[in-house]
Amino acid sequence: MPRPIFAQLDLNAIANNLHVARRKACTKVMAVIKADAYGHGLLRVAEALADAEGFALLDIKDAITLRSAGYTQIILLLEGPFDAHDLEQVAAYDLTVVVHSPWQLDLLEAYPKRSSLDVWLKVNTGMNRLGFKPDQVGAAMERLRTHAAVREVTLMTHFANADEKRGIEEQLDVFNDLAGDYRVARSLANSAALLRYPQTRADWVRPGIMLYGASPFADTSAHELGLRPAMTLRSRLIAIQELEAGDEVGYGSLFKADRNMRIGVVACGYADGYPRHAPNGTPILVEGQRTRTVGRVSMDMLCVDLSDVMQARVGSPVVLWGEGLSVDEVAHSAGTISYELLCGLTKRVPVQY
Ligand SMILES: *Cc1c(COP(=O)(O)O)cnc(C)c1O
Repeated sequence: MPRPIFAQLDLNAIANNLHVARRKACTKVMAVIKADAYGHGLLRVAEALADAEGFALLDIKDAITLRSAGYTQIILLLEGPFDAHDLEQVAAYDLTVVVHSPWQLDLLEAYPKRSSLDVWLKVNTGMNRLGFKPDQVGAAMERLRTHAAVREVTLMTHFANADEKRGIEEQLDVFNDLAGDYRVARSLANSAALLRYPQTRADWVRPGIMLYGASPFADTSAHELGLRPAMTLRSRLIAIQELEAGDEVGYGSLFKADRNMRIGVVACGYADGYPRHAPNGTPILVEGQRTRTVGRVSMDMLCVDLSDVMQARVGSPVVLWGEGLSVDEVAHSAGTISYELLCGLTKRVPVQY
């Protein structure tokens, strides 16, 4: 028997989640598939998202893979070109680039002359990560307008607090004030904005996390949003230990039994992408029954409390997250977010479709 851990992907769930995005936003969908589709596998996910109008990612190699696989949609490079060689590839594979900084405008001078280029100009409306400040946008638009190869320009921005109480109003005002001067397409919304703020939907929405069935919000579950988990991380118990009161578990003896109890050892550790910081008590399913982790997560294993899972034995199925246990809950318990867990799944975990 091979090591029993694997990630099971439900492509129907991804198609369902795209449908949820569509029902919310009657605009074009730029499906965000960066980081190997948030850890789910670029090409498989693209298949499930085939009726999105566009795909957004960062790595130009992935963009070329996607184009070469026959996808004819817009493929947007979210951090734009990094050098002149990228621009040759952009031309060769008909990719679309974000331009977020003056140095990228300089770089555009190297774009092959006979080709045409679509650009998403990124505006920094307050996040202060990427993008032109509002007062630099006029000059940047003028440089794009007079560039021989530039065909279409879309204005985009990204929200810092769409999933937080503070919301999007301040940034939206800044964006709308400036975008009003141009007759070009606009794109603002990530998953959180698209789900919560209809006024951000514009011409293109850019959902990411919701497509994979996780919630962008701390206070609303994926299930409440009509989303279905795309990834279920499964493994099995490979050993059982009977503890006596006072016995301790794992590195650092982080857990100490206060009574006689049974624990199970799961073939899954941080080298598989399970968070090492998950404390005692992180939720987990054994035989479909909810229980809790005990002790420190190690590289290849973690331990679970079997006190209430009478039928558990060596070989019992375990769900680390996914179907029946939302990745958001596990992430919350470990002090992180679903994004990090999903894209942190490691290469050694086989993926089953
Ligand atoms: C990652 C990303 C998104 C998607 O964000 P989610 O929170 O996953 O929906 C949208 N736009 C940009 C620019 C991004 O980098």
